[in-house]
Parts: sequence; structure tokens; C-alpha cells
Amino acid sequence: MVDRFGREISYLRLSVTERCDLRCRYCMPEGGVCEKELLTQDEMVWAVEAAAALGVRKLRITGGEPLVRPDILTIAGRCAAVPGIREVCLTTNGLGLGKLARPLREAGVDRVNVSLDTLDRAKYAYMTRRDRLEDALAGLEAALAAGFRQVKLNAVLIGGFNDDEIPALAELTRRRPVDVRFIELMPMGGGFPPGAYLPCGAVLERLPQLAPEGVQGTARLYRLPGALGRVGLISPVSAHFCARCDRLRLTADGMLKPCLHGAEEHCVKGLDRAGMAAALGRAVRAKPACHAPLSGERPSAAGRAMHRIGG
Ligand code: SAM
Ligand code: SF4
Repeated sequence: MVDRFGREISYLRLSVTERCDLRCRYCMPEGGVCEKELLTQDEMVWAVEAAAALGVRKLRITGGEPLVRPDILTIAGRCAAVPGIREVCLTTNGLGLGKLARPLREAGVDRVNVSLDTLDRAKYAYMTRRDRLEDALAGLEAALAAGFRQVKLNAVLIGGFNDDEIPALAELTRRRPVDVRFIELMPMGGGFPPGAYLPCGAVLERLPQLAPEGVQGTARLYRLPGALGRVGLISPVSAHFCARCDRLRLTADGMLKPCLHGAEEHCVKGLDRAGMAAALGRAVRAKPACHAPLSGERPSAAGRAMHRIGG
């Protein structure tokens, strides 16, 4: 699928739930969510089949927290078996990976991103509203041992919270074959104090020894001298990557989002494969050239919190 601006759309982000076992302050309300009607498992797979028939090659399973779904292994396995899908990735907070890393690998998941913003137990408990750092770290180790093609750690940069941990988080790449990626905090409507947003440039200021290694997808890559893994910078706010956007998002309640930061949505719930293919075509045609600039004063126009989109 090629959009109106000549961009090839080959990547689908599929959110399989809105629920989560954490309550990250920048993502989810403290009281959790009351899920309404979601796509059925069959509908999710039909949507992936329709997308693959139209040229989608990479699939990311996300949420909410995808590992809270009891049928996550079946979903991953069915998606991995869809003809045309070459790569299945999963984004998770890692809490469930201790049990599920190996079965997910066996089900056909190629790559895993673990989200972890701090290595400090008290800070983790504050930001996620749950005291579960140990489980997240055990999940990361389980992912590293499970034979995935790649394991990445995603940390949202938050001024006054984890900027003092930039060196410690990056240091993980020296000892472990993991890519650590710093992501700018996107203003999705959560009430963060001024100064919470930090541009990725702060990482380069803290770590001048980082050597550039090119670009991969939305990340600019660097390496610490002698490190096994790389450090990635993802700058959706300070240097958005709309010109290279190659993706669509399908929310757990069945809405295709042409743009993460746009309110437009196209429903696939209740449609058969042909109807889904038509909706995918409409969503691709509706992709804007670019979303409006983001700032504290001009938050995202997504119309949903991040746990209801999938990142
Ligand atoms: N629960 C899984 C996890 O945390 O990895 C998957 C869903 S979560 C919504 C996907 C990613 O979005 C996570 O890496 C999370 O840190 C990121 N995220 C959520 N809200 C964000 C925000 N306001 N700005 C930047 N990243 C955000
Ligand atoms: Fe849950 Fe992921 Fe959102 Fe944190 S970022 S509340 S782990 S969905």
C-alpha cells in the first residue's frame, strides 16, 4: 500500500487489549480501564490477513499490556502464521516475560521491546504505581535468554525523574546484547509539570562518547565504546519522523488510526476480510503528510490515552 505522499505502508501495530497490570502515570489513569467491546481474536487475525494481503510485512503486538491476555500465545502464533507477515514484534512492560518469553519465541515472535524507565525500585513504584521492578528485570533477563532475534529496552525520558539515570540505562548495552532506546515523552493529555519533557539531545549531552551508527526505523542509533548493544534515540516531539511514516495502528476496539496524533479513525469491528481490506485502503488514503507540532500547550490530537492506542 502506498499513500498519497508516496510512503509505502508495510507495518501494522495491533493493540490486543486496553488493560494493563501497571498504571504508568503518562499512559493510564490510576483507576485502570473499563474495556468496552473489543475485536474478537478472529477479527484481529482477519485484519492482519487483510493487511498482509495489501503489503504489510511487519506486525507489532501491543496494548495496554499484551501479556495480560490469557490467549496471547494463540494470538501471536496465529499472527506469525499469516502468509506475508515476515516479522512479528511485541512491546511489553516485561512483567509476564518470566513465564512467557520462551513460549512467545516458540509461537513465532521474532523481536521483543521491554519498556522500563528506571532501575530504581522506589521510582519504578512511583511512576508505574506498582512495586514490580524485580519482575520487570526478571522479564528482561528471560527475554535475553529466550533466543529472540532482538531485544530492546524502551525508556521514556522524563525530566526530573530519570534524566539522572541516562548513563546507567545506557550502560546496560555494555554488558548485555540489548539496544536501549530513549523516547521523548509525548503530551497525550496527562498532567506533567513543565520540565518533564526532555528532548533526546539531553542523552547526547550526558554521553558525548556515543558514536553514531546510522538510522533504523524511527531511531537514530549510537554505540558506547566497546558496547554489545546500541543506544537509540526516538524523537517524536523534537524531530518527528512523519516523512518516513510506514505504519497503521489498529486499536483493540477495532479502530484503524491513520496517524497516532490525529483523531480520525476507521472502524473494522464487525466487518469481514473484504470489508476490512476496504477500511485499510481508506485509512491509508487518509494518512496526513504530517501531524501538528506537539508541545505542552499543544497536546496530541489523538483523542485517546496511549494505553488505548498501543504506542
Ligand atoms: N504495555 C506495553 C509497554 O508498556 O511496553 C505496551 C503498550 S505501551 C502504551 C507502549 C509504549 O508506549 C511503551 O514503551 C510506553 O512507555 C510508551 N508510552 C506510553 N505513553 C507515552 C507517552 N505519553 N509518551 C511517550 N511514550 C509513551
Ligand atoms: Fe501499561 Fe504500557 Fe501504559 Fe505502562 S505504558 S500503563 S505498562 S500500557
